[in-house]
Amino acid sequence: MKRFILFLKMTMLIGAMSISCQKSPSKTASSAASLPPIDGCPTGKAIVSLTYDDGLASQLQYAVSALNEFGLKGTFFLNDVSAQKDDWKKVRDAGHELGAHTLHHPCTASFDWVEAGNASEDYDMPRMAAELDSQLALLRELGQAPPVSFAYPCGTTWIGKEQTSYIPLIQERFLAARGVEGNISVRPAPLMNVPAYFLEGPVEAFIGSANAAIEDSGWVVFGFHGVGGDYLTVSNDDHRAFLQWLVEHKENIAVLPFGEAARCMQ
Ligand SMILES: [Zn+2]
Repeated sequence: MKRFILFLKMTMLIGAMSISCQKSPSKTASSAASLPPIDGCPTGKAIVSLTYDDGLASQLQYAVSALNEFGLKGTFFLNDVSAQKDDWKKVRDAGHELGAHTLHHPCTASFDWVEAGNASEDYDMPRMAAELDSQLALLRELGQAPPVSFAYPCGTTWIGKEQTSYIPLIQERFLAARGVEGNISVRPAPLMNVPAYFLEGPVEAFIGSANAAIEDSGWVVFGFHGVGGDYLTVSNDDHRAFLQWLVEHKENIAVLPFGEAARCMQ
């Protein structure tokens, strides 16, 4: 687990350093153009999306209740939660978005915490396609209607020993996909590897990134793991303080689930 955390920290650091390595918008912009428009997109405001990965118990315990209390909607990128269907169905019923994060969370086998047989290198395109389709069926069972959002496990967009991009499989099935590069998106935003900040606090760090989005009238996505528990933990106090700050800055910021924000950023 410590290696897992270390890897994620390294990923975030690399993400923060690689803001100049954005993908070309050409391909994803054409995909986004085919999405149906939605009503009520904010104008002249920054958009903030709060996303939570890996379907963790601390999210169910603390993050969901805090979001509900402050009247905000988040996005939960889940793995195989077939043993906790009732819990996550309630989250969906409360108006939060449930997104896909693969069932088995493949990351590179270079990290020895990766489960044997479930490394990125162990996948081929048919296996990944089948897993994504199974997960879409599970999310639908939980009440999540399409179009569905996706987040790349470890931010890794390739599978197989040849490191083949599986972005085409994502593009065929999903509305938008979140990556791990720390950056702010502006319209028209490429939607197949949307940047996201993974911060562990203090609250001023979250506020700083949100203020940068206000300056750009941009879209900032925050990625969380543990909230008040589990790993890569943001404290319950920092999480709540940030939600409170967001509510107090509604004039300048709209907080939208990832998928809704993506459709507004076309
Ligand atoms: Zn993950």
